[in-house]
Amino acid sequence: MSEEKKLEGSDTSRHFLKQWIAEDVAAGKNGGVVVTRFPPEPNGYIHIGHAKAVSIDFGMASEFGGVCHLRMDDTNPAKESDEYAENIQRDIHWLGYDWKDCLYSASEMFEQMYSIAENLIRNGQAYCCNLTQEEWKQYRGVPERPGTPSPSRDTTPERNLDIFHRMKAGEFADGEWCVRAKIDMASPNIHFRDPVIYRIRHVPHYHKGNEWCIYPMYDFAHPIEDALEGVTHSMCTLEFEVHRPLYNWVIDRMDEMGLLREHNGVKIRPQQREFARLNLNYTVMSKRKLLQLVEENRVSGWDDPRMPTVCGLRRRGYTPKSIRDFCERIGVSKYESETDLSLLEYCVRDDLNKTSQRRMVVLDPVKVVIDNWPTGKVIEVEVANNPENPDDGTRKIPFSGEVWIERADFMEVPEKKFFRLAPDREVRLRAAALFTCKSLVKDETGKIIEIHGTYDETADYGNPADGRKIKGTIHWVSVQHAKPIEVRLYDRLFSVPNPLDQGDQDFIQFLNPDSLKVVTGYAEPSILDAAPGERFQFERVGYFCADSEDSKPGAPVFNRTVTLKDSWSKGK
Ligand code: ATP
Ligand code: MG
Repeated sequence: MSEEKKLEGSDTSRHFLKQWIAEDVAAGKNGGVVVTRFPPEPNGYIHIGHAKAVSIDFGMASEFGGVCHLRMDDTNPAKESDEYAENIQRDIHWLGYDWKDCLYSASEMFEQMYSIAENLIRNGQAYCCNLTQEEWKQYRGVPERPGTPSPSRDTTPERNLDIFHRMKAGEFADGEWCVRAKIDMASPNIHFRDPVIYRIRHVPHYHKGNEWCIYPMYDFAHPIEDALEGVTHSMCTLEFEVHRPLYNWVIDRMDEMGLLREHNGVKIRPQQREFARLNLNYTVMSKRKLLQLVEENRVSGWDDPRMPTVCGLRRRGYTPKSIRDFCERIGVSKYESETDLSLLEYCVRDDLNKTSQRRMVVLDPVKVVIDNWPTGKVIEVEVANNPENPDDGTRKIPFSGEVWIERADFMEVPEKKFFRLAPDREVRLRAAALFTCKSLVKDETGKIIEIHGTYDETADYGNPADGRKIKGTIHWVSVQHAKPIEVRLYDRLFSVPNPLDQGDQDFIQFLNPDSLKVVTGYAEPSILDAAPGERFQFERVGYFCADSEDSKPGAPVFNRTVTLKDSWSKGK
């Protein structure tokens, strides 16, 4: 689909996954039921790539009147924790999805997995192997030539069972033995060459403690989890496509063991399909890399507003709707591609433009002094809170003879097409007055510290009496009423589009040194009421969100969500 079509927000109506499920439903497969699952490993926080998977898994279930299970894929005890598991749930709920009472975890199925492995061993379909890692790789060989069978491939089921039981009992060290499925050492698919299904790990599990010292491998555990939960459509990213024959092999064995569930008297046979993962530029999405950024204090935590994590995006000011909209626009395909971060930024701008109230805040101030303004006079001007939404009403802002404006709104020698303030030029101070610059006050370095001039006394709230056209309108904040606020100007985390693709250079080197600038802004008084998490458009500046951690009513701290315009695509 063309980019243009995507930007129109066209429903990606019949992507291949939707078609696949629709055909199954029409054919009455699985008794007509649709059950999907999202299977995060609780070893990190979920990021925008996971949000894509979440939107597909939950989206497909709801489209076909089914349910989507949330399953903690906790088969690798080393890096998992409750902190991660809890935050994953919180983030999925925040995105707007719900698994009802279908929360599962792989570790709750360890017992069944163990007995399935026992069964396979008993049936001569799996065996214990004590090749070292290096030997195992060597024996496995390369796709072009058949591999070499392990010397223990043909040991008897009795002996294998004995070893397996002793593995479980903790008699062996990590890596000393493993269990392998007995499939096909000559298969061109390397994953089919007697893959490892159980390994020894003397590591306590965050839920199961020291109950186990053997853990199932993903390729074995995943189809079992799907089958035991009655999942019908198991969708994952493309790298699992080559694992699909193994997935089906495990499902076939479960079928033989009579372990598949039924719906309306029809057996549920889980099937797997794969889609392209989301790759987003100017960031990294591997959990390992994100963890590294956190551990090395390159960012303030998983929820640092520069992180591509869902909690980081939330703290930055992204809305659930903007993220869902983004996932809809990128669509679903089988081809790897790179998505431009600008599209995500476009989506949040689009949403916030409709929903956020406007405020006047000056981030880089220079003082304007209106010489003919009556001393001490203060007026209140009334402005709409959100021109896109009249229901948001209006508010009053104090205006006086001295106001802050943005330094960038003045040019001593104006460039072509610069229509804002310049010597002897008139601009509208939004909704308040028409001001003409007459003179400048500079400090000893030549820096402008005051812009002096006069206002048009006949113009009412900036509307000229003679109807003349005013080319520039700028925002302002009354000096006497301005509230200083902390503003965190966030920008892209990396300064190159593909930080992981820089030859042998470490991605850390490509962190954007300007990804965070903290400034003091001058804001209109009403800003002090901002609640943590509340979002605003600072007029003509960008979209900002009161920080959920550090902002307090009366002392707000703002994060820049996104600039008002896409400055990156124009070369900044
Ligand atoms: P790691 O970074 O350790 O490789 P992971 O990103 O695969 O882990 P999981 O918790 O296993 O993390 O992912 C849960 C689900 O999210 C998986 O089904 C996975 O395919 C999907 N997923 C992960 N990253 C992306 C991505 N960038 N785009 C789309 N889906 C993704
Ligand atoms: Mg994974």
